[in-house]
Amino acid sequence: MPISGDKVLVSGIYRVIHPAHRRDQPKAFVVGQNFPSCRRCENCEYVLLKAAPGIAEDPDLRSGKMRRSQTLRKPRKRVSS
Ligand SMILES: [Zn+2]
Repeated sequence: MPISGDKVLVSGIYRVIHPAHRRDQPKAFVVGQNFPSCRRCENCEYVLLKAAPGIAEDPDLRSGKMRRSQTLRKPRKRVSS
């Protein structure tokens, strides 16, 4: 089970276990990050709940660009009756 400071090896949703002071919280972490340390407990533990690759790991999505600005630029035609 990874603890604070370990590298994230699998992107996904992790349950963060703070033994001392708060309830477990699900959080998303991306591969290549380090699991952060908590300012209140020395070492939290991280339990993978669901693997979920980030978009940077998806060959189709990572190079995709947002097309929103183009779709918004469509000319509006006013319909006068
Ligand atoms: Zn904590």
